[in-house]
Amino acid sequence: MPSSKGYAAQDAKSALGPFDFKRREPLATDVVLDVLFCGVCHSDLHMARNEWGNAVYPMVPGHEIVGRVKAIGSAVTKFKVGDIAAAGVIIDSCRHCSPCKRGEEHFCAEGATLTYAVPDRIDGSITMGGYSDNFVVDERFAHTVPANLALAAVAPLLCAGITTYSPLKHWKVGPGKKVGIVGLGGLGHMALKFAHSFGAHVVQFTTSMSKKEDALRLGADEVVLSKDSEAMKAHANSFDFILDTVSAQHSIDDYLVLLKQDGTMTLVGLPETPPSFSVFNLITRRASIAGSMIGGMPETQEMLDYCGEHNIVSDVEVIPIQRVNEAFERLLKQDVKYRFVIDMSSLK
Ligand code: NAP
Ligand code: ZN
Ligand code: ZN
Repeated sequence: MPSSKGYAAQDAKSALGPFDFKRREPLATDVVLDVLFCGVCHSDLHMARNEWGNAVYPMVPGHEIVGRVKAIGSAVTKFKVGDIAAAGVIIDSCRHCSPCKRGEEHFCAEGATLTYAVPDRIDGSITMGGYSDNFVVDERFAHTVPANLALAAVAPLLCAGITTYSPLKHWKVGPGKKVGIVGLGGLGHMALKFAHSFGAHVVQFTTSMSKKEDALRLGADEVVLSKDSEAMKAHANSFDFILDTVSAQHSIDDYLVLLKQDGTMTLVGLPETPPSFSVFNLITRRASIAGSMIGGMPETQEMLDYCGEHNIVSDVEVIPIQRVNEAFERLLKQDVKYRFVIDMSSLK
């Protein structure tokens, strides 16, 4: 069993601190990674602080993982020792239900195995994430990384990237479409880059006007301060699609009224408090509210390859693991440009 060092939360209130543990025995189809970089997703903070009520402690968070393959099982075909590999939010699924067969493992009928804080479907041990020196994952749930991309900036693609790429593709965002992105954080800045790259007219909504110049640089055609009701009104009934990436409670109605007839607002942000909205704002424009969660393994690889072809990565602030608690506090202050990534060499 690989012994691992990492950073763990021991309960919902304490800071993360050093933690030694064992991972499950690697199987024939597993790859063992030396973790190089791991992104800090707002979900790590929600989970570590038990904001969704499903925490299991000790918890090693982290599901934006880039590593170097240090060992492979006898049946592994996709990787060899020394290769770069990446893993995201899920590490396993039943593999025989309809969604799994379609490559939509994240919608597995039996429930996909999350990268951390759930029982591993192989041996029942609690999964531990990427704030750690090593990682074990079945090759089906590991991805190849385009050689031209900087590895620290690739890590966030494994959650923030696929979580925004997938709904933008599903709702056919492209030329001739007017698209809104709500919140300019880790997910938001990737949504902005993808929506721009897909050729849509993109409006970035933010509560932080200090991010305006960045939003324009990242691909926004327009930037709107969401607290400015006149600026919001100017966009009434005009959007084909709005993607909401906000991590905290906020008004959904402020955005529903911006949809045009038959428009869709898709929620990917997961605030602790469930949202409420006026049904009138839906019926008066036959609008839809939808949700979307990460993406399946084939689409995640497609997204990484797309990023390689179009030179898209995350804008990152690389930190040593000793600063992860400070990074959590800065996330809460909306003070990240635009993803913290832990350099795991700091753990050694
Ligand atoms: P993040 O980097 O902290 O960004 C969230 C952004 O939301 C902030 O930068 C801020 O943007 C905006 N925001 C924060 N507090 C706000 C408030 N009180 N009112 C209005 N806007 C506020 O977080 P993230 O890592 O991108 O994650 C965003 C959310 O998506 C989290 O809830 C996370 O758990 C969830 N998530 C879901 C999935 C999925 O599969 N559906 C996957 C990953 C993450 P501005 O400064 O521009 O206003
Ligand atoms: Zn995430
Ligand atoms: Zn399944």
